[in-house]
Amino acid sequence: MNTVYFDNNATTAVAPEVLEAMLPYLRDLYGNPSSMHTFGGQVASALAQARSHMAALLGAEPEEIIFTSCGSESDSTAICSALQTQPEKRHLITTRVEHPAILNVAQHWERQGYRVTYLGVDAGGRLAQDEYLQALTDDTALVSIMFANNEVGNIYPIQRMAEAAKERGVLFHTDAVQAVGKTPIDLSHMPVDMLSLSGHKIHAPKGIGALYVRRGVRFRPFLRGGHQEGGRRAGTENVPYIVGLGMAAQLTRQRLQEERIEVARLRDRLEQGIVARVPDCMVNGDTENRLPNTTNIAFKNVEGEAILLMLDRLGICASSGSACTSGSLEPSHVLRAIGVPFNYAHGSVRLSLSRYTTEKEVDYVIEHLPGVIEKLRAISPYKK
Ligand SMILES: *Cc1c(COP(=O)(O)O)cnc(C)c1O
Repeated sequence: MNTVYFDNNATTAVAPEVLEAMLPYLRDLYGNPSSMHTFGGQVASALAQARSHMAALLGAEPEEIIFTSCGSESDSTAICSALQTQPEKRHLITTRVEHPAILNVAQHWERQGYRVTYLGVDAGGRLAQDEYLQALTDDTALVSIMFANNEVGNIYPIQRMAEAAKERGVLFHTDAVQAVGKTPIDLSHMPVDMLSLSGHKIHAPKGIGALYVRRGVRFRPFLRGGHQEGGRRAGTENVPYIVGLGMAAQLTRQRLQEERIEVARLRDRLEQGIVARVPDCMVNGDTENRLPNTTNIAFKNVEGEAILLMLDRLGICASSGSACTSGSLEPSHVLRAIGVPFNYAHGSVRLSLSRYTTEKEVDYVIEHLPGVIEKLRAISPYKK
């Protein structure tokens, strides 16, 4: 049975071009980019090229890109750096809908005595703007707000929120792991100080990420040691993976405009196909401001986990929320923050597409999902 993959917000396939670009650096070109000899120098120039591609994708300068091991490391680095460079400030602002890579770090600092404001969202999935403006104070060390949500795909108003932080002289970080490669980001026109991204969400391998740090922003390394990455991240560079990430950035930059239209067309076909065929379901979150590849649909009076198991038997990979919250019986923190009614939140399924998703796959899900819901409702212990 073929795998019908609708879980691209969890991870993506490595693009064939990315794999090809990486192979020489796993086989023959194994030099250390810090070495003085020509063999190492060849590798150093590949590293520089990858950095340029990543910078070009974001509208940044190459010196503003630091390669890390993953999106989580970038997130942790950004928060720790902001706190360590401003030890007098004891307040953080983030949201209730962040990825655990931010939420758990914020909670850690809360236990260390920091005050943390977790912004809520309204029933439409929009972030509370008044609450945000009121929360900004002279004591605020950092605002960290995700660019786009991994579960419902909602895009938050980063431009406006970063401008408000800048007016108050507060540093602004965004976890853009889900946004990069799916929606255009131009940091030359955005007062964002730091931005996190991850390779495996944009068709590069797992275990590589990057952190953008705007020129002039004070910075403290998370990993100390050697002078790699301009002294900002120690450890011999993961050259093959950085080259892969550079290629992924290049592909994304070339294709983003076309791909986001085609991916949105398929997502809309999928969503409309399901909603038209299944009674008592609704789309979660803000459908006006969304990534083109994500839909999160709530089916009344069914268990999301049961839906996933039955889809899995049909070869369909989906998710009931973030991978980190599935396995527990509580609805995800994101759906709870949005206030999705209990008997809907439990039956929520996220379907996330990529450039490799085909119309045939979309139609396969449209064909089989309604029957799955019908079967489960027939045996559901819930009252009809
Ligand atoms: C996947 C993800 C991360 C973590 O990235 P890793 O590279 O897996 O550490 C962080 N934030 C968001 C929004 C994500 O979707």
